Amino acid sequence: QVKNNGKNHVSFYDAALSRNAVEHFQLETELRQALSRKQLKMFYQAQIDLNTGIIIGAEALIRWQHPTQGLIPPMKFIPLAEETGLILSIGEWALRESVRQAHAWHKRHPEFKKIAINVSAVQIMKSKFADTVYGILMESDCDPSIIELEITESTLMQHTQHVVDTFNQLKKLGISIAIDDFGTGYSSLSHLKRLPLDQIKIDRSFVKDLPDDKDDAAITSAIYAMATQLGFTVVAEGVETEEQEKFLQRLGCQTAQGYLYAYPVNSDDFLQLLVLNNQRKIKRHA
Ligand code: C2E
Ligand code: MG
Ligand code: MG
Ligand code: MG
Repeated sequence: QVKNNGKNHVSFYDAALSRNAVEHFQLETELRQALSRKQLKMFYQAQIDLNTGIIIGAEALIRWQHPTQGLIPPMKFIPLAEETGLILSIGEWALRESVRQAHAWHKRHPEFKKIAINVSAVQIMKSKFADTVYGILMESDCDPSIIELEITESTLMQHTQHVVDTFNQLKKLGISIAIDDFGTGYSSLSHLKRLPLDQIKIDRSFVKDLPDDKDDAAITSAIYAMATQLGFTVVAEGVETEEQEKFLQRLGCQTAQGYLYAYPVNSDDFLQLLVLNNQRKIKRHA
């Protein structure tokens, strides 16, 4: 009887597995068509100058407007896109779209001076990424200094020489590079010295329990001090409360991003936010 139970259990498990495989395959088929069907959208989350409250830039965050499943967050399809290689075309689209949008905003609102765009390790490893970026810059006539590429710490770990070469090429184009989710990966500090980096983003997991959690307060202070002394600028991500904001301000942190200021929104809503917020703040700080 025990054996029989075991067998039933196994076949039940198999059925669940193959159902998963079918769903997985269907999602992949749909993702292949998502680009040409214009179902991918860029959302934008404000980045705030902590001294003035002015919106000085945005992070571009991708969404999939699925015909039946609604708005699908990136964590549900970026890994699949990476496995299948679809990230190359999706990532290039995201880059082109974000650059075009940022160029338009910067021209009319010069205080908006930075667009941060997430780049997957696969894009860096499997394509002539710097050439792609150069092509997009040429098409859009965009000032390269408003573009910042966000690379996660784990990307830095892999294939170091190629990463170093690509980063150097990107720097020559005049764009800047940020390390995303800093503190969650395992990049050795010597990498930081060797790579041409501009900015460190302190991961949300350290910000979440500020200021009460003594360990997180120590880690955040240490990351900030190290980053500043190495000549990097610092952005704190995931700021949700005024207590967190105060802690970061006291530390000297210049820039923050989080639900306290704004959720990621579509481009129309972002423009409205930019204009309304900055009219108010610029008047106050004039
Ligand atoms: P990330 O780059 O670390 O982006 C920050 C994530 O934290 C975003 O989730 C954002 O909505 C969320 N967030 C921002 N402020 C807060 C806050 O105050 N509280 C909380 N709880 N969350 C906050 P999202 O948009 O779901 O993106 C998740 C991840 O997907 C990103 O993490 C990034 O790694 C990846 N991703 C997004 N867009 C792209 C893209 O165009 N290309 C690639 N390769 N990856 C992307
Ligand atoms: Mg990011
Ligand atoms: Mg991040
Ligand atoms: Mg993060």
